[in-house]
Amino acid sequence: MTTQPLIGLEVHAQLLTASKMFCGCPTEFGAPPNTQVCPICTAQPGALPVPNQRAVEMTILTGLALHCDIAPRSVFARKNYFYPDLTKNYQISQYEQPLCENGYVLIDTESGPKRIRVRRVHLEEDTGKNIHGGAGAASRIDFNRCGLPLMEIVSEPDLTSADECRAYLQKLQLILRWIGVCNGNMEEGSMRCEPTVNVIEVGGSAKTALVEIKNLASFRAVHQAVDYEILRHTRALLAGESTTRETRRWLAEGRTETMRSKEEAHDYRYFPEPDLMPLEVDEAMVTRIGADMPEGPDEVRERLIEQYELSSYDATVMTQSREFAAFFEAAAGAAEDPKAVANWMQGDFARLLNETGTPLAESKVSPAGLADLVRLIADGAISGKMAKTVFERMFETGKAPALIVDEEGMSQISDTSALEPVIDKAIADNPEAVENYRSGKKKALGALVGQIMKETKGQANPALVNELLVQRLGE
Ligand code: ZN
Ligand code: MN
Repeated sequence: MTTQPLIGLEVHAQLLTASKMFCGCPTEFGAPPNTQVCPICTAQPGALPVPNQRAVEMTILTGLALHCDIAPRSVFARKNYFYPDLTKNYQISQYEQPLCENGYVLIDTESGPKRIRVRRVHLEEDTGKNIHGGAGAASRIDFNRCGLPLMEIVSEPDLTSADECRAYLQKLQLILRWIGVCNGNMEEGSMRCEPTVNVIEVGGSAKTALVEIKNLASFRAVHQAVDYEILRHTRALLAGESTTRETRRWLAEGRTETMRSKEEAHDYRYFPEPDLMPLEVDEAMVTRIGADMPEGPDEVRERLIEQYELSSYDATVMTQSREFAAFFEAAAGAAEDPKAVANWMQGDFARLLNETGTPLAESKVSPAGLADLVRLIADGAISGKMAKTVFERMFETGKAPALIVDEEGMSQISDTSALEPVIDKAIADNPEAVENYRSGKKKALGALVGQIMKETKGQANPALVNELLVQRLGE
């Protein structure tokens, strides 16, 4: 029997609004517990919700970025449940008519680009947070998160491996950050993911029951949990064992376990939220929001390949964030050597940002500074080796590269008349190497170059030294 895993991903993404979904409470992460609450988000009697306009706009922007249809009329619904961390005991969500539908995300796979369909993007409110353990081993509740605007982005089960799940999540994170609607931090819980997994028989009717996995706080956990479930389902299918539709949780020790039987939509007793009017979105609003849409990562990537003749790999690295791409374009435009700029950005620059934990926006290196450095190398004013030191100084101090070269006396000797006496001396000091070279052992040139570089404290232009030496020895 040939088997095929089918995985769908449900992603909850917190929107970067200043206030909550249905009240004016602030949304900042990390405030002391229960300091960002009010009668509305704690459901006091008589409190009524008012939708956050900005959250609606951000969800529409997301829908457009994911190539969705935007519904002219969508409906908020109550999802009834026992929520210790949501005092209303229902969540205001969207059910029958979500705000956005029928989109897709393009991911890179080993066999080329693949379209993962997005079934829906709807708007809802977040719950508070249960804090278990601690003093007296009691459970406590922090309602600061309660009522934060959340987008739920649901894919079709088009993913067929853990690698594809990771590619999808990374791409979704990139897009959400790119358009500025979500910070995408999985460790802070501002982007959370729940995969649904089952395995089917190819060309047959056998299949395992759909399982949903909870409690995944990193890309790595998603990858491991999906892999684990694929294996578990495949084994059960091949052995002819029956499986149950359930919700499982991922454990740090590297396996999943049953959490509860999977609830069906009707268990939630969804009904239209009587406290809110249907959400009307006219075409003018969609057009206005679409006009703010930046050129997306896929489009920028294609353009970098066209316009700057970057390789597909380089273009992917340069579009790892909107800021990175903008920096690259600003530097490449000024440097006349885009490939060299791309090399610096993914090499020493990325390394230093990483090592020092500096976000690109706070780096002291400017696009113009990097362009100047690339030009100094191209002009032969400094060697590639010196440039590495110069770049480190630029990163530390933000000074212009020419100034650093000047201050540290690092300029390269590219003046023939200055090099000639040193070359003469090297030839006179190394008769054996000269003999060897002339008898055909081209490698012997290395010893001569070595001495010249030593004499000039590494400042001689190596290409010029080579050229002059070969010329001289050929005479
Ligand atoms: Zn509130
Ligand atoms: Mn949800």
